[in-house]
Amino acid sequence: MSVIDPADVARRLDQLRNDLDAIGGDHVEIVAVTKGFGPDAAQAAITCGLTVLGENYAQELVAKAEHLLAAGEERETAPEWHFIGHLQSNKVASLAPHVAVWQTVDRLKLGTRIAAHSPGSRVYVQVNVTDEPQKAGCQPHEVGQLVADLTSLDLDVQGLMTVGRQGDVSETRSAFDHLVSLADDLELPTRSMGMSADYAVAVAAGSTMLRIGSKLFGPRPPKATH
Ligand SMILES: *Cc1c(COP(=O)(O)O)cnc(C)c1O
Repeated sequence: MSVIDPADVARRLDQLRNDLDAIGGDHVEIVAVTKGFGPDAAQAAITCGLTVLGENYAQELVAKAEHLLAAGEERETAPEWHFIGHLQSNKVASLAPHVAVWQTVDRLKLGTRIAAHSPGSRVYVQVNVTDEPQKAGCQPHEVGQLVADLTSLDLDVQGLMTVGRQGDVSETRSAFDHLVSLADDLELPTRSMGMSADYAVAVAAGSTMLRIGSKLFGPRPPKATH
């Protein structure tokens, strides 16, 4: 397991904040994505004042959350975990005690599970706005109905989330524009879009929340099997 030095994270965060200032993104929230790294990454993020953490895999999120709890984190610095990966409904129960925001709700069945295990929790709807068939997320034309259905389960639907198209800036820009217009129509304040490679495009399109991993923690170690 690689060791994450909080001083490196602080330096990279400084660079990122300077960058964001320069492009009018100083108001945008940063989710520190610790997937693929050990609990030391989560610890380093918290040391740097980043208290919103993102994870893609249920097991990793639970392990890191429990590690921080065991390390006796003060309540003031307890992080807020966002689940940002492909969500299977059979993982909801184990995640529920730790997850503050479910960013990848893309079907009603998930909402039903979340409402059962974690009533009233904050959710975002993931939308596939890049027209990639293999990608998670509901279709743009399904968003309105899904948001209404989730709301009727008393879930707190706060925003929309999407992932850009890797390596295609202009396609990604129009996808982000599309997400913003859907969120505008539904009057949802949070637009979670933009990662290390495309955060500038996301900010230009109106992102309110970036999910940043490698830009903060360095290259991810080779992926373990899940
Ligand atoms: C991995 C991941 C991120 C962070 O990616 P980086 O390129 O390391 O910033 C953000 N969002 C999602 C959904 C991810 O899977």
